[in-house]
Amino acid sequence: MQIETKLPQVGTTIFSVMSQLAQEYDAVNLGQGFPDFEPPMALRDALSRAVADGRNQYPPGIGVAALRQQVAKKTESLYGRATDADTEVTITSGATEAIFAAIAATVRAGDDVIVLDPAYDCYVPAIELQQARAIRVPLQRPGFAIDWQRLADAITSRTRMLIVNSPHNPTGAVLAAADLQQLAALLRDTSIVLLSDEVYEHMVFDGALHQSVARHPELAARSFVISSFGKTYHCTGWKIGYCVAPPALTAELRKVHQYLTFASFAPAQWALAQMLEAAPEHHLELPAFYQAKRDRFRALLADTPLMLQAVPGGYFQLVDYSAVRDVDDIAFSQWLVREAGVAAVPLSPFFETPPDTRLIRLCFAKSDATLEAGASRLVSLDNAPRDQC
Ligand code: PMP
Ligand code: GLN
Repeated sequence: MQIETKLPQVGTTIFSVMSQLAQEYDAVNLGQGFPDFEPPMALRDALSRAVADGRNQYPPGIGVAALRQQVAKKTESLYGRATDADTEVTITSGATEAIFAAIAATVRAGDDVIVLDPAYDCYVPAIELQQARAIRVPLQRPGFAIDWQRLADAITSRTRMLIVNSPHNPTGAVLAAADLQQLAALLRDTSIVLLSDEVYEHMVFDGALHQSVARHPELAARSFVISSFGKTYHCTGWKIGYCVAPPALTAELRKVHQYLTFASFAPAQWALAQMLEAAPEHHLELPAFYQAKRDRFRALLADTPLMLQAVPGGYFQLVDYSAVRDVDDIAFSQWLVREAGVAAVPLSPFFETPPDTRLIRLCFAKSDATLEAGASRLVSLDNAPRDQC
């Protein structure tokens, strides 16, 4: 039988490809973004307890009430947005599901969705499956800031949605309060829906505050604000995320969620609800925890020929490798995993048309031992023979 693919551009994600190569070459895996340390013991215990206590059947499709209430409370206390747990919070199978459901619920065939380039990989396929068009607007170097004029120029009567992501994957760029003002001015008098991917909300550094769209009432009124417990609690494999949105948007998102997954893994929802209630300090201490990792990793990399880019947020360090090899980032990443035993993620797959940069992404959500092992291999790059690439 001949199958005509609906997603001709899609292959295996660069994250899976690099993790596979890391295994093959027994490399230190600084590629795919996931912590190599465990979730808090209290959370793991709570998960075991939830299973033992019989939380094993379908939970409410929209999410366990106790967890939705904790999300509402957190949104209110951190970002000042009064949030109704019953009509504005939905628990999903990871942020990925929330993103897909938000797009599928509001974007129609023939619509345009603006995506800032480079972009995390799950946005564009979700848009294209709706037979809509992704319009990519490049972020501006240095710093990967929004180019407000280019963004304004990209908006037309076909624009249905704009996707923003702060802290940003892969670049680490963060939105400032002034950016939210600009965004509000730009979207005012339009019917554009904002999807704000905030999965790294608790990884904003150097004393800056995470500028959640939820802080801005005018923006919040037109936004899906999406986050992930996987990032915050070091449990990416549990795949529990959530979406906060006004009732009308939430109602539409839930129509898709209801038939996409119906509900998400119940024991993890109970465990996370307990964790949020008993230990809110966990997420409050996360910026300092990851800032220390960032600083440690940067200090270790100072002895390498790699040029470190600024990291205001997230858990990725971008480095410019042009002093090591003059080859494209895919070739460099393949060489690096093979010859230096370090897996990284090249930047070009995040772009529609990759610029001619020499950047790779290294994940620092790793134990000190892993960061040290990775850095010690990168230090030896200085002595690597030049003809191997
Ligand atoms: N958005 C961004 C920017 C991400 O980096 C990730 C995962 N790393 C996700 C969404 C998906 O999160 P989840 O694993 O909860 O589906
Ligand atoms: N978000 C993670 C990253 O950027 C990967 C998630 C995945 O493998 N799908 O590395």
